[in-house]
Amino acid sequence: MNSITAKNGFIPERIADRIWDSIKSGLILVDGEGKIMLWNDWIAQHSGIPAEFALNHFLGSLFPEGLTASFKVALKNVLQYKLPIVLSNALHRSPLPLYPLPVTQHMQERLQQSIVITPIVTGEEKHLCLIQITDATLSINRERVLKSHSERLSQEAITDALTGAYNRRFFGERFTAEFGRAQRQNIPLSLIMLDVDYFKYYNDSYGHPAGDKVLISVARALKSQLNRPTDVVVRYGGEEFAVILPDSGSEGSQIVAERLRAAVSNLNIPHRESKIADRVTASVGIATCQPDTDCNMACFLETADTALYSAKHGGRNCVRHLLTSDCGRPCPPGTP
Ligand code: GH3
Ligand code: MG
Ligand code: MG
Repeated sequence: MNSITAKNGFIPERIADRIWDSIKSGLILVDGEGKIMLWNDWIAQHSGIPAEFALNHFLGSLFPEGLTASFKVALKNVLQYKLPIVLSNALHRSPLPLYPLPVTQHMQERLQQSIVITPIVTGEEKHLCLIQITDATLSINRERVLKSHSERLSQEAITDALTGAYNRRFFGERFTAEFGRAQRQNIPLSLIMLDVDYFKYYNDSYGHPAGDKVLISVARALKSQLNRPTDVVVRYGGEEFAVILPDSGSEGSQIVAERLRAAVSNLNIPHRESKIADRVTASVGIATCQPDTDCNMACFLETADTALYSAKHGGRNCVRHLLTSDCGRPCPPGTP
């Protein structure tokens, strides 16, 4: 087979063969019947089938494992309709039994492949078909690493580094979203604010690193009390946590809040400087926005804060609940 170049006319067959064999991807040329006319070195190495054996055979007959149905259909369509086809790696990971070098085929995973099948118009009745195969394993692995890296970064962007709870940034987004949903669907929404009691004294007495450990334990205890995937624990700041409870009214949210308060107390972390208990405790405020009430987000947050303040002044280690309609100032209707 001679190849032609624009400048120098024909390239001798032996040089053309060297060119095919130097290409770092697989080249297979089949005739209109599907018989192999060209089988370059790359494909010989990665299939473990030498060219002498492959030439003049049907592609399907070379592989005892057979070709995938999608590959066979693609090949048939290219020969029939004379249009190129790309078998993208996203949909067809490894259509041909090709393996990384050295090929042993024993317990080896197939190469991930990108395949382009192109009709070669010869002027004769039956066309040829060129199959180009590239090893997509490296680029796919790189993509996978980049994806997991970017997933980790986005997770870190919404997570508090100390406790693993969601951070204030996440709170802003989620609370806005849940508030909007509650208003649109006319369902209740509750917000719990929980603050560790006399935590400054704890740090003063046991040291800051010990205080950090308490915050980690508190976050874990709070998370363990939530059953619905939509209920989320946020480190709101310092030793204060927020819990968003979508679709929860006064009754349900007070039950959850009491569970959270008890969970902190049940950690049984000694606190010799606390003025109200022998252990670490927390005060809890809840605000609920009921359906069909005028409410905005600022008022909602303020109500939860007022409820927490009330729990602190009510003796700490207790739960106080307020409706947003109890907000100290009038809650103007309209956008948050
Ligand atoms: P109250 O019962 O009224 O809430 O009293 P409190 O001492 O808990 O409240 P205060 O606001 O006076 O003190 C909060 C303390 O929380 C002070 C601060 O050093 C501590 N704190 C905030 N963030 C962290 C943290 O990340 N790690 C540790 N160890 N302590 C923290
Ligand atoms: Mg506190
Ligand atoms: Mg505080």
